[in-house]
Amino acid sequence: MNSELNSAGNWKCGKCNEPLVMEKTKVKYLDGSFEVELLKCPKCKMVLIDESLATGKMLEVEKSLEDK
Ligand SMILES: [Zn+2]
Repeated sequence: MNSELNSAGNWKCGKCNEPLVMEKTKVKYLDGSFEVELLKCPKCKMVLIDESLATGKMLEVEKSLEDK
């Protein structure tokens, strides 16, 4: 049993060893900017972008921009 299971997972900042928190972060992509929830270290503000998540979001955004 994993008693530490939560929505943010068990990600920790490699520098501070602080548990990362989900935070809305502005991301610039192509000519637009948008907000996504990313895991962020509350101490040093390092943002962790999960590669699969980032790729998924980027593809999503790219699509919606093309549809306009
Ligand atoms: Zn940190």
